[in-house]
Amino acid sequence: MERLFAKKKMRRFFVEKINETVFLRGEEHKHLSLVLRARAGERVVLFCGDGLDYTARIDSVGQNETRLAVIEKSSNTAEPPINLTLFFSALKGDKNDLVVQKATELGVGGLRPFISEFTQVKKESLKTDRLNKIALEAAKQCGRSSVPRVYPPLDFDGLLDALKGGGYDSVIFAYENAESGGLSIDADSKNIAVIVGGEGGFCGREAKAIADAGAKTVTLGKRILRAETASIALCALVMHGAGGLK
Ligand code: SAH
Repeated sequence: MERLFAKKKMRRFFVEKINETVFLRGEEHKHLSLVLRARAGERVVLFCGDGLDYTARIDSVGQNETRLAVIEKSSNTAEPPINLTLFFSALKGDKNDLVVQKATELGVGGLRPFISEFTQVKKESLKTDRLNKIALEAAKQCGRSSVPRVYPPLDFDGLLDALKGGGYDSVIFAYENAESGGLSIDADSKNIAVIVGGEGGFCGREAKAIADAGAKTVTLGKRILRAETASIALCALVMHGAGGLK
C-alpha cells in the first residue's frame, strides 16, 4: 500500500521513447530542474503512452538535459477498462481546452472534434496542436500513462464515416431534443463512442443521420446543458456505467 501511495505522489514526465537511459530535454527538463528543483538520486515516473509506468532515478541534472536510469516498469492503474472516444462539436474560444482537459482526466481514449451545421466556429479556429498539449498536461497531472489524441476536426460526413468505421460496440448520442432515452451502458461494450453537439446543437436531419448510423439517442435530462457541461457529464456517466471510476 505504502509503495502504491508513494507512486501516486511521484512526479511524472513524458518522453517519446523509453530506453535504459533516458534524457529529458526542453520543457520537461525545465520543469524538472527549474520548477521542481529535482536533484540526482531522486525518483520520478516516466511514461511514453504505452500504458506502462517506468520508475526512474535521476542520474544527473545538467544545464540542458536531465539524465535518468530506468529501474522498474509497472502497469498503470489509472487507465480505464474501456476505450471511450468523445466526438464533440468544435466550440468557441477556450471551451475546447476545458473539454479536452476534463475528458482526459475522466479517462477518454480519443477526442474527435467535428463541425456540424450549427457549429459556431470555423474549422481553422481549432488549434489541434495546442489541444494535444493540453491533453498531455492533463494526462500527466492525473496519473495516466497514455495520452488521448486530439484529432483534426471532421466535417459532418466525416463524423458519420468515423462512427461507422470506428468499430464501436456502442455509440451514444446526446441530443437536446430527445424526449426519452435514458443512458445505459452494455456491460460487454469495451469500445464506446459518445457524441455531443456545440452551442447551436444539431439540426433534425443530422440527428436522424446519427441515429441511422447506429447511435443510441439519449437525453441528459430536462435541462439544456451547455455543450462543455454535456461533454464532461456524459464522459463521467459512461465511465461510471462501465466501471471505470472504481
Ligand atoms: N442550442 C441548443 C442546445 C445545445 S446544447 C438548444 O437550445 O436546443 C449543446 C449540446 O449538449 C447538445 O447538442 C447535446 O449534444 C448536449 N445536450 C445539452 N443538454 C442536453 C440534454 N438535456 N439532453 C441531451 N443532450 C444535451
